[in-house]
Amino acid sequence: MSRRATLIVSFLAVVALACAPLLFSSFTISLFNYIGIYALVAIGLALLTGVAGIVSFGQAAFVGVAAYATAWLSALNGYSPWLGLLLAIILTCAVAAALGAATLRLEGHFLSLSTLAWGLAIGFLFGNVEGLGNFSGISNIPPIRIGGHALMKSEEIYYLVLLMVVLSLVAMYNLLDSRWGRALRALRGGNVLVESLGVNAFQTKLAAFVIAAFLAALSGWLYAHMSRFVSPASFDAAMGIEYLMMAMVGGQGSLIGGVVGASIITFLKNAIQDYLPLISPNAAGQLEVVAFAAIFIVFLQYARRGVVPFIAARLPNARPTAPAPAAALDLRAQPATGAPLLKVDQAMRRFGGLIAVNAVSFDVRAGEIVGLIGPNGAGKSTMFNLLTGALQLDGGEIEFSGLPISRAPQRAIARAGIARTFQHVKLRPRMSVLDNVLLGAHGRLQSGIVRGMLRLERSEEARARAEAMRQLERTGLAEHAFDVAGSLPLGKQRLVEIARALAADPTLLVLDEPAAGLRRNEKMELATLLRELRADRLTVLLVEHDMEFVMSLVDRIVVMDFGSKISEGLPAEVRADPRVQEAYLGGVA
Ligand code: ADP
Ligand code: MG
Repeated sequence: MSRRATLIVSFLAVVALACAPLLFSSFTISLFNYIGIYALVAIGLALLTGVAGIVSFGQAAFVGVAAYATAWLSALNGYSPWLGLLLAIILTCAVAAALGAATLRLEGHFLSLSTLAWGLAIGFLFGNVEGLGNFSGISNIPPIRIGGHALMKSEEIYYLVLLMVVLSLVAMYNLLDSRWGRALRALRGGNVLVESLGVNAFQTKLAAFVIAAFLAALSGWLYAHMSRFVSPASFDAAMGIEYLMMAMVGGQGSLIGGVVGASIITFLKNAIQDYLPLISPNAAGQLEVVAFAAIFIVFLQYARRGVVPFIAARLPNARPTAPAPAAALDLRAQPATGAPLLKVDQAMRRFGGLIAVNAVSFDVRAGEIVGLIGPNGAGKSTMFNLLTGALQLDGGEIEFSGLPISRAPQRAIARAGIARTFQHVKLRPRMSVLDNVLLGAHGRLQSGIVRGMLRLERSEEARARAEAMRQLERTGLAEHAFDVAGSLPLGKQRLVEIARALAADPTLLVLDEPAAGLRRNEKMELATLLRELRADRLTVLLVEHDMEFVMSLVDRIVVMDFGSKISEGLPAEVRADPRVQEAYLGGVA
């Protein structure tokens, strides 16, 4: 759907929901309230699990921390629920930040298991603290008051729930569409790519984690003051799994899917609880589990990616319009042509017993195109990974623009002005070509999370989009801007990587086998592009296998074999070097 159509449909949906109390019974409205409260958690999970790929079983614990915080402050200590909201948010986010800092460096399954572990632990804690009412919980929680009026009836708190869900959705949609959201969407598929673009992957994950916990805190606060009672059972690990199920059923990574999933699961549960006792009055509890499992299997069979993506794929697809021209982003000051730019001194890297890079030294001056060549396994990619910080040196020094970068993290090197492509293309195949290129500009933009949520970064975003579009034109990809990156042929994907690197406004462009897998005419186009870049005073270091391609293009060549540098010089000199002929041509020449 087009943006306009989406806005109209959303607006109508909100109006319809606002009229719901006029049409439905109090019971139904209170069901809606529960859906809204669950949806807040599921929206957070859509962001955390669906978008960023961090599976958390522990969200129920965050809901619990918030619910208990506000219950303790308002019911046991007599303070206003609004103060309870403040405490709930601060405490929940602090707990999330601490847990996230401790666990988010874990990989995949270990991370998920750890969320299950603290989900259980926190749930257990509520039941065993004297001051929190042990397993019987805290009752007599006061209702929320607005201007002296207590929100006692379900029709009253309904509007507060609706407001919070709508505001959360808007903020999260804005966020996903911002610089930070792009980085978040790119997290799936590993840290190497995002870090090479100047993104702090750990911080991005931690922020997503805290945001999801923040939404869980809103949910817990509403829950406590709506049900007026909290007990450990509402926040146990089973509930944590149910939240995850809501997010999955609604749609992997779809925010509105969180609402849809919460609705489906809640209505289903309700229906099952209503009808199962009619079938079997005694075993209803066990049958509930069976019925739920059966429905879940059907879901996995037919709509694995979730309900919302399933429907969205069947709606007409509006093509986005090209970004409007906007002022250019600020450019880096480029070094004077011929100035020393990169200095690699005795670089060493071992993999176990294998010395992949053995005391290699070479320089690159500003404005040159330097080729790094050598047979397969010579250590060229490893050398690139060392100088971009993707791998750590075991010895030696690397200096870039006068800065020592031997121990700098990848993102710092990226921000210092080295942009790279990968031998095995690393794009985010499900993001658009434009979004992939925009990722390259991450380090040139400033807007943070809050500006993104409030959509205050639109002018910067417009400049970034215009810049990405310019790089797409430069690389001949403009017509593919809105294609899904994974749908392009390999040659074009390599060009997208170059466009993405260019969007960073680099000083040094490092290309690992850019011509691999390209057809002859594509290679010639690439060579033309690289010459144009040199004319624009960009410095290029490229690894290439195709001798002819390198010879005709580069100013200077460095040759590696078995981890060591065996030759260096002008193309003609290198070509005439017997050591090179022996190594490179395997003694054929
Ligand atoms: P090139 O790019 O010149 O073909 P590489 O730098 O990829 O060569 O590899 C150099 C040597 O290091 C090869 O023998 C390769 O098997 C080894 N190597 C590269 N990366 C790793 C790694 N992550 N772990 C172990 N060995 C590696
Ligand atoms: Mg390689």
